[in-house]
Amino acid sequence: MVVILLGPPGVGKGTQAVRLADSVGWEHISTGDLLRAARRDGTELGKKAQAYMDAGELVPDALILELVREHLRGVAPEAGILFDGFPRTTTQADGLALVLAGAGRRVDRVVVFDADEEELVRRLAGRRSCRDCGAVYNMHTSPPAGNVCDRCGGELVHRPDDQPDTVRRRLVVYRELTEPLISHYEGMDSLVVRIDAGRPVEAVAETFRQAVDRGAA
Ligand code: AMP
Repeated sequence: MVVILLGPPGVGKGTQAVRLADSVGWEHISTGDLLRAARRDGTELGKKAQAYMDAGELVPDALILELVREHLRGVAPEAGILFDGFPRTTTQADGLALVLAGAGRRVDRVVVFDADEEELVRRLAGRRSCRDCGAVYNMHTSPPAGNVCDRCGGELVHRPDDQPDTVRRRLVVYRELTEPLISHYEGMDSLVVRIDAGRPVEAVAETFRQAVDRGAA
């Protein structure tokens, strides 16, 4: 089964995707995480992506599609896949459809997380990420036990693209380029399920799980 998780920045996609993928043993593919890892490793891709990411703009489609194609080469052909933060444009969606078709697969379900924009800006203002392993905390809702990463002891930082001005730009980019994907997928076999992600983490996790299970039926 192939599931796409769509939603604006700060809506909790990463947290929920990791939980669900871990519990069902699926591959979790977050292009944001892959790009941040490329930046930490100082690869060519990481260098090319840096300015776009820090400005809250999208990294060009060709780079993202190459990254995803490359990553999928290491994924078992029948593995469940949860895409998080990809695709973000119709060009990426078309590219994904082609890659999947080559493996006899398709997108089975699109889950959209919705939340109020002011709440998203507030959440991202409180978000801290581990510089070393990428673990994410929220100083209001899920703080670390101390001043460093609970998982690896790394330094916790406020991502440059989580600063309020950049967050507002990311929200505009989401509305203009990514939101149209919802009707793109709705036009294809009503694959889409919308979830109110403004609720507590446990409640969202339960609804997310049900949405994916329904897709498996
Ligand atoms: P995220 O952690 O998913 O919010 O991604 C952080 C940043 O990485 C985004 O603001 C973009 O600059 C870049 N990025 C991540 N995924 C994509 C994608 N699918 N297409 C273009 N840019 C992306």
